[in-house]
Amino acid sequence: MEIEVLEKNDKTVRLLIRGVDVPFMNALRRIAIAEVPSMAIDEVVILENSSILQDEIIAHRLGLIPLKTDLDSYNLPEECPCKSEFGCNLCRVTLTLDVESKEGTSTVYSSELISENPDITPVSDKIPIIKLAKEQKLRLEAYARLGKGKNHAKWQPVSMCTYKYFPKIKINAKNCNVCGECVTICPRKVLAKKEKSIEIRDLMACTMCQDCVDACPQNPPAIEVNWEKDAFILNIESTGALSVERILLEAIKILDNQIKEFESQIEMEENEKN
Ligand code: SF4
Ligand code: SF4
Ligand SMILES: [Zn+2]
Repeated sequence: MEIEVLEKNDKTVRLLIRGVDVPFMNALRRIAIAEVPSMAIDEVVILENSSILQDEIIAHRLGLIPLKTDLDSYNLPEECPCKSEFGCNLCRVTLTLDVESKEGTSTVYSSELISENPDITPVSDKIPIIKLAKEQKLRLEAYARLGKGKNHAKWQPVSMCTYKYFPKIKINAKNCNVCGECVTICPRKVLAKKEKSIEIRDLMACTMCQDCVDACPQNPPAIEVNWEKDAFILNIESTGALSVERILLEAIKILDNQIKEFESQIEMEENEKN
């Protein structure tokens, strides 16, 4: 397998992965979405709420705030040695909110949630939680835990994880009259018209929709759009809970463990048969 980083910033990464197949890419994508754990608020105790929103709606909104996650210091509740429903310092983080609108209407933002662990805080300070009118109050305690996206979307560490085949575009210069129809119709501006030829301006943007092939007046078309069978472009966007590198590493670790478990199950069944 070969991996090339095409684009990378704080929250997103775009990789070109060669030498793999669709089942592998799909397993990686599904594990990143559903199996890599992240931290989210799971239980809320409302101590005082004189706002117009019901407790349940506030709890739901709090659950969906992505939290910076520390996978090395916390256990999944089901794997924690405490075996307690309430959790312990190794599987639970408490956040509190104590706000009152003293002058007119005000918006309460995620920055006002106080965490007992300064490393486990909302990924952004600017997520609105609620609006309070004058003299309305909200006091609560919230408990965050590690969890998996397969149980609730609030635990997904990725806001986007997609892959597509690596496109291949071939222009037959002998057959092409440089009419520019393919350039005009392309919705992704992949192609560009030069004086005597058509150039590929941004191959990665191609969705392989075939519109350019259909628009070509030549018979057979002078442009051919195809894809490489074992090369894929993977796009991952983190919610901010974990770095994209960590999400990928965890996903590969989980996939590796699942394959090992599958192998040992097959071996056990074969031994039983013999
Ligand atoms: S296949 Fe679609 S996206 Fe790709 S170059 Fe042709 S028109 Fe553009
Ligand atoms: S539409 Fe066909 S003939 Fe016209 S420029 Fe594109 S490839 Fe060439
Ligand atoms: Zn615990």
